[in-house]
Amino acid sequence: MIHFAESLNETGFRIKQDISYLALDVSHCGVLVLSNATENYRVLYANAAFLSMTGYTETELAGRIDWYVQGDAGDEPQRKKLRAAMSATQPTSIDMRSYRKDGSLHWCELGITPFRNHEGYVSHFIGMLSDITTRKNDEQLLPQASRHAGLTGLTDHLGFRDTLDTAISASGGSPLTLYVAAIDIDQHQHASGSMHGQSQNLLVQVAAERLGTCLQTDEMLSHDGNGSYAIMLRADSRSDAITRCQAIQRSLTRSIALDDQQVHLTCAFGLAIFPDDSRDARALLNYAGVALSHARETSRNSILFYLEAMSVRLHERTTLESALRSAMVNGELEVHYQAQVNLHTGRVAGVEALARWNHPELGRVAPDRFIPLAEKNGLIDDIGLWVIEQVCTDMAAWREHSLPVVPVAVNVSAAQFRNPLLGDQIMMLLNLSGCDPSMLTLEITEAVLMDDTSTARATLNQLHHAGIGLSLDDFGTGYSSISYLKRFPFKKVIIDRSFVKELVDNPDDAAIIKAIISMAHTLGLRVLAEGVETEQQCRFLSHNLCDEIQGFLFSTPVTADAFVKLLQAGTTLPASLLNAKKAKRTLLLVDDEVNIVSSLKRLLRREDLHILTANSGSEGLALLAQHPVDVILSDQRMPGMTGVEFLSMAKTRFPETVRIVLSGYTELQSVTDAVNEGDIYKFLTKPWDDIKLRGHVDEAFQRKELADENRRLTRAVYASNLELAAANRQLKHQQHHNHDGLPP
Ligand code: C2E
Ligand code: MG
Ligand code: MG
Repeated sequence: MIHFAESLNETGFRIKQDISYLALDVSHCGVLVLSNATENYRVLYANAAFLSMTGYTETELAGRIDWYVQGDAGDEPQRKKLRAAMSATQPTSIDMRSYRKDGSLHWCELGITPFRNHEGYVSHFIGMLSDITTRKNDEQLLPQASRHAGLTGLTDHLGFRDTLDTAISASGGSPLTLYVAAIDIDQHQHASGSMHGQSQNLLVQVAAERLGTCLQTDEMLSHDGNGSYAIMLRADSRSDAITRCQAIQRSLTRSIALDDQQVHLTCAFGLAIFPDDSRDARALLNYAGVALSHARETSRNSILFYLEAMSVRLHERTTLESALRSAMVNGELEVHYQAQVNLHTGRVAGVEALARWNHPELGRVAPDRFIPLAEKNGLIDDIGLWVIEQVCTDMAAWREHSLPVVPVAVNVSAAQFRNPLLGDQIMMLLNLSGCDPSMLTLEITEAVLMDDTSTARATLNQLHHAGIGLSLDDFGTGYSSISYLKRFPFKKVIIDRSFVKELVDNPDDAAIIKAIISMAHTLGLRVLAEGVETEQQCRFLSHNLCDEIQGFLFSTPVTADAFVKLLQAGTTLPASLLNAKKAKRTLLLVDDEVNIVSSLKRLLRREDLHILTANSGSEGLALLAQHPVDVILSDQRMPGMTGVEFLSMAKTRFPETVRIVLSGYTELQSVTDAVNEGDIYKFLTKPWDDIKLRGHVDEAFQRKELADENRRLTRAVYASNLELAAANRQLKHQQHHNHDGLPP
């Protein structure tokens, strides 16, 4: 063994004095010794073979720290690998393109081995360099026929590039257009379970065959080992190219019977155009791949042409991804808290923990951007656990300061449930911080349940039995399968904010919300509506027996300190927004004649009555959106919107109101329709009898109050049923669990 540490002079080349160095000097392999003194890898020694391969002299190389940097930009992953191994003091080997001193390109294979001195430290690296230019050139020049992806017998992408190059060169100056399509094939089978390797191979062959039959003689298909396909198409126009791709999709998607299952294929296309996008075969293939990666995100069967913006986006994503890797280490992540408020009491009943990323240059990056990225690259496991750890720390601090602690909900992605240790890790964090598991809730989406792997189920059961609550997040956006609600031990359903957003203007969303609330209550689950920004939304939700709300109306997500202040202040929702009985009766009068409005107001004025007035249907609707109204008294003939039309819209949006028409005319058809549709409660005529009219209005209020009382009772029954059903579910779940350890 050569002890370099003793014999090397760190400032320059050592004087060749011993026999071992002589042996190195006559070697045909390039040998290099680098210093690891300050991790700058200065060259301390290079043998004669190395000097002859690179064309440098000893003096030129002595002390240089960047000799290996002088490579090719396309080589970057290889050089990164080298640097990573050296800084981890690991041995490695790379193929790299390098430039000789005279600027000529050559290929080298470089092996690096760390050298430990007698104290056990890596003091040097020994590099072994072989010139592999001839081998690489041979590979490049191999005839196309020999470059095949084994299973399909198709040309690989290298061969494809050659053919494309040839086609491009052959085009000369002619106005030829070529389309390069990168294709990604997905398989879907109805039965779950994996396929035998042999069937899988057969499937690949069928796919390749079907693709092949769609091509013309002067077109070409390639397949590389990773399962990606590329096609060179000749088409007259973009729309022609799309038609061709659609024909390929049709041919591919016919179902295939394999292993007693029907398998369906779907395929996405990314397209680049010669000469519009590039005149270089490698670039065209690259661009088609970039377009494909966007197509895959759009839908399984989409076809997208390359756009420069795609490369920019891809670059941004890659940059963001590498920034995210260091975000946790650099302390750029934070947890914010958003209150969840009980609609019966108006008090804060819980809180959701939301991850925040403050990048020093990019600023605040939204979770909708970085969470999906972390899910893709696996960082979500670390980020997710960090969030829970932070929450545990905060909860412990709140408890220590005797603050009124509420349960904290944490979002957990489907990707995190693939980690079989997730349950143990969460329990460990709770134990370490001394937090009660019942103070933690996990918000999961249907994606977790759709995977329905035994790992996810086991974790959910483990956490449920430990006392951790489970909520189903973003309900209504996915499949919204009721069977999930039955099969998994949820306590709460969270209505997605997309429904809440539109609920005042969109009767469908209002109907969906009511249906979710009623269904969840029947199953013994509580309901939280997310994204509540206005009083109207809140009022609608409390009228329809929703249990909790979360949204900017009460509080945005805030820092842990700000949340503590909110708890200490004991802030509550105003009583008018709660599920409680309203103190004062409210009447809305609508008539385009100002005099009539005034005289009606005089006639009906009373201590305990709040009267709102409007001169048109649209004004009336605006008032309804702002105030809780019990009874509406409207004229029929008004410009813009008739009374019946106005009341019919009022019924859709505010069905609890009792609606009366007071008209000087009798248009039988519209009135009959309105009565039959249940839009109006009474039809009264002008001129009116004061006493009778007062009586009718009073009767309408009584009717409204009776309905309100019924709703209140229903709510009370719901509330007790809720607890009963929850207890029953718990019992049933316990029985199943005792039976087979997992839910049915
Ligand atoms: P989510 O779990 O559905 O969280 C609710 C989102 O709605 C939050 O967005 C919140 O800021 C927003 N929001 C609440 N009230 C309102 C409102 O009144 N109006 C509007 N326009 N928005 C409101 P955020 O914080 O941007 O988070 C987005 C999503 O990112 C979350 O949706 C969740 O799926 C995910 N996420 C956030 N933090 C984490 C985390 O720590 N782990 C995981 N796995 N996912 C997280
Ligand atoms: Mg959530
Ligand atoms: Mg949500």
